[in-house]
Amino acid sequence: MEIKTAENSGLQIKIQNQMNWEDYEKQLRELGYKDDAVDIIKSAFAYAAKIHADEKRASGDPYITHPIAVSLNVAKIKMDAPTIAAALLHDVVENKGIKPEELKKQFGEEIAFLVDALTKAEKVQYRGVERAVESLRKMFLALAQDIRVVIIKLMDRLHNMETLRYLPPEKQKRIAMETLELYAPLADRLGIWEVKARLEDLAFPYVYPEEYKWLMSQIKNRREEDEKYLEKLKPTVEAELKKENVSGARIICRAKHFYSIWKKLIKHEMNFDRILDLVSMRIILQNSEDCYRALGIIHKLWKPMPGRIKDYIARTKPNGYRSIHTTVFGPEEKKIDIQIRTVEMDEEAEHGIAAHWFYEAQGKKPVTKKLDDKGFFWVGQLQEWQKAHANAPSAEALSALKIDFFKDRIFVFTPKGDVVDMPEGATPIDFAYHIHSEIGDHMSGAKVNGKMVSFSHPLKSGDAVEILAQKNKKPTPDWLDFTKTSLARQHIRAYLKKLGAPYSAKKERVKMEAVITVHDRVGMLKDLSEIFVELGINILDVRMDSKNKAYPKLLFYFHPKKGLNTAKILTAIKRVKNVEDATIKEVR
Ligand code: MN
Repeated sequence: MEIKTAENSGLQIKIQNQMNWEDYEKQLRELGYKDDAVDIIKSAFAYAAKIHADEKRASGDPYITHPIAVSLNVAKIKMDAPTIAAALLHDVVENKGIKPEELKKQFGEEIAFLVDALTKAEKVQYRGVERAVESLRKMFLALAQDIRVVIIKLMDRLHNMETLRYLPPEKQKRIAMETLELYAPLADRLGIWEVKARLEDLAFPYVYPEEYKWLMSQIKNRREEDEKYLEKLKPTVEAELKKENVSGARIICRAKHFYSIWKKLIKHEMNFDRILDLVSMRIILQNSEDCYRALGIIHKLWKPMPGRIKDYIARTKPNGYRSIHTTVFGPEEKKIDIQIRTVEMDEEAEHGIAAHWFYEAQGKKPVTKKLDDKGFFWVGQLQEWQKAHANAPSAEALSALKIDFFKDRIFVFTPKGDVVDMPEGATPIDFAYHIHSEIGDHMSGAKVNGKMVSFSHPLKSGDAVEILAQKNKKPTPDWLDFTKTSLARQHIRAYLKKLGAPYSAKKERVKMEAVITVHDRVGMLKDLSEIFVELGINILDVRMDSKNKAYPKLLFYFHPKKGLNTAKILTAIKRVKNVEDATIKEVR
């Protein structure tokens, strides 16, 4: 399969069949690495080349091309020398049985540790749910110890995706799926958005081949046209900026990533006119004052589209993203999507967390960056989760993991203005337990943006949440229905157990999940909801999974009802027009 990807990532590196140390060193120097860093990397380079000498990739290339590509990608996001060395060595234990002790002797504790952690994460692959959880857990264990391990792992995956076409089809699909479900979200959480987008674009044609082909046929000409159009406008923008004394601007016309276009299309009912920004213009400037001046200059040049100006410089996105966005009507009334940001903001957007800590580390003592910084609170949650699920059944553990860490997050504020990162749909109960178990256990009420709300009120990003607590209040079993985080659930269960008498695990109400595959049509959701109402079932929640656009899945959650068996419910559901399949099972 011929795979086209957005060419502008800046991360793709062409490796010639025989890349020698001189070429490699040249690239390192160009990236700003100095003598002492280069020395460390050189010995790892020589060692890896020797160990992998007789090995080949599935592509037929010498094996060493792989660690070289991985390590250069790691270098491109400006990681420290031990990380680059570990990237070069990342497969020597796994492939060639080199002993960790030997690496320790040769390269010291730090590099040996990184390689060891990577080997552990590498060993276990997706083979059914059981193994997947194990693999995820190991990887996260590595993650919680040292962020650099995860970054190497992401770059390893990136190069494996770039060379995926050489593998047998059944492997391709699994690896691409894993990439979309695990690695891309991980890159996203770490703020390495370019890598995230690349991973998604590379996985897209393998996971959704039909949809990919269709999209390509739709946008090919459009993209080229749009790119030409923008390139022609570049000199105009440059001249206007110069006229107003805004100097040193760099203007990049970039195509949107395919997978993100696809996701937007799904969101907007496949209507291309809603996807304004197939191509966008990015203006990179020296400082934020220039950014605002450039915004004014652009708006003088072309009329802005109402409601499309977003100032993420004044108001940083919760994930740390900073930039000014606007959409303007260019020549021929064509809509142009424009981003304006400083060099520093641009670096951050491309390199994620790595951008924050490399420069100081260069040349000095290597830093061991532990991932317990304030900005990465979720890593702490990850550790909690690992502890809590050490003995849990795998399927349940996996779904808890997905809900807690890979679903979209919301960001809410404490009364003091601290940001709290929670899963979508979290309630004040989740928030209370997140702050402190004592507060959760004695919660008596909750205020969102100054107004009293119910315990089950779903929180939204940007909400300011205040929890009221009283000593004599305690959790009740129905709280379990209103929580999204396993942390809250554990505390509630533990407290109820402590209370003894009124609660036993059996009394916790069972929740049912109906998964209904439909051939979508207008009124589908309404008709299905009515079936539940007719049967006297209270719907707790409805979700939609539209990964397959022609046959989305609707998920209904409800408590079982006495005297109503699942067969009866299924029969009723299946009578609805365009229902293709339905199953009901107990969840948690
Ligand atoms: Mn590898």
